[in-house]
Amino acid sequence: MKSDPKECLYCQNNETLHSLMIEVATLSVSRLFIFKEQTYRGRCLVSYNEHVDDLNLLDDEHRNAFMADVARVTRAMQKVFNPDKINYGAYADTLEHLHFHLIPKYIGGPDFGGVFRMNPKEVYLSDEEYKVMAEALKKEL
Ligand SMILES: [Zn+2]
Repeated sequence: MKSDPKECLYCQNNETLHSLMIEVATLSVSRLFIFKEQTYRGRCLVSYNEHVDDLNLLDDEHRNAFMADVARVTRAMQKVFNPDKINYGAYADTLEHLHFHLIPKYIGGPDFGGVFRMNPKEVYLSDEEYKVMAEALKKEL
């Protein structure tokens, strides 16, 4: 572990985190967020509960539990948003806290067939729209 959990937005649950995403649910070993930037309608993020840099540092039990959480979320996303594909992105080049970006892609929609953009800063919803989205996801989890 190279980075300091004291400087980690997931561990600190700070203002930066809340400016980027909305917490929707607590899963078995992770937390589910809606990413506020919604160029890719239904975009979510799942972060592991502890400050771990990479999937390969978890033992089998915790890695399997984390991946089960991720799949549980994408199953719900599939039901709620009906995308043509969901992309999984685990980068964390600069933020060493295991998390997956979950990106619904739609045929004819933004960047279908290519790589999703990390934060296009183009599409934001109203508080009410985020709330509706969160409720719909929770119902399908
Ligand atoms: Zn952290």
